Amino acid sequence: MNCPECGASEYLCKTRFDEFLVLEFTDAGYGAVHHLTVTAYMLQHSSKLTRDGWLHMRQLLREFLVENKPPEHVRKQNRDLVDSGKRTFKIKSRDGLPVINKSAWTKTILDVRTENAEVYCADVTAWARAVLDEVQGLKV
Ligand SMILES: [Zn+2]
Repeated sequence: MNCPECGASEYLCKTRFDEFLVLEFTDAGYGAVHHLTVTAYMLQHSSKLTRDGWLHMRQLLREFLVENKPPEHVRKQNRDLVDSGKRTFKIKSRDGLPVINKSAWTKTILDVRTENAEVYCADVTAWARAVLDEVQGLKV
């Protein structure tokens, strides 16, 4: 069965995502794009998110890729938001319903090659850029 959200066959996206997280946590060269892997994957798998959480992720991806904000800066902003209790929305959804209805994408996590950190970082960035392009105009 294909993933109804990103279209990957046999739900390979989930397996791949779990493998990538291990890779990113064990090798700093791969870990450099961790923020992009998570946001791109979550945007494509919107059933894991609330509507506000999805919009927040989209904004984050825009800050990383368009405004070129470093991940540390964004992380700090987020931490402040969480610590100060200013965040009034939930990020994770438990109802399992997708925020967006889209299963055809230019790129998915399956397009990312892993033979070395340079190739990996370039492919994750290209995937994240393609996702941002495709979600920018979506009304949710
Ligand atoms: Zn998927």
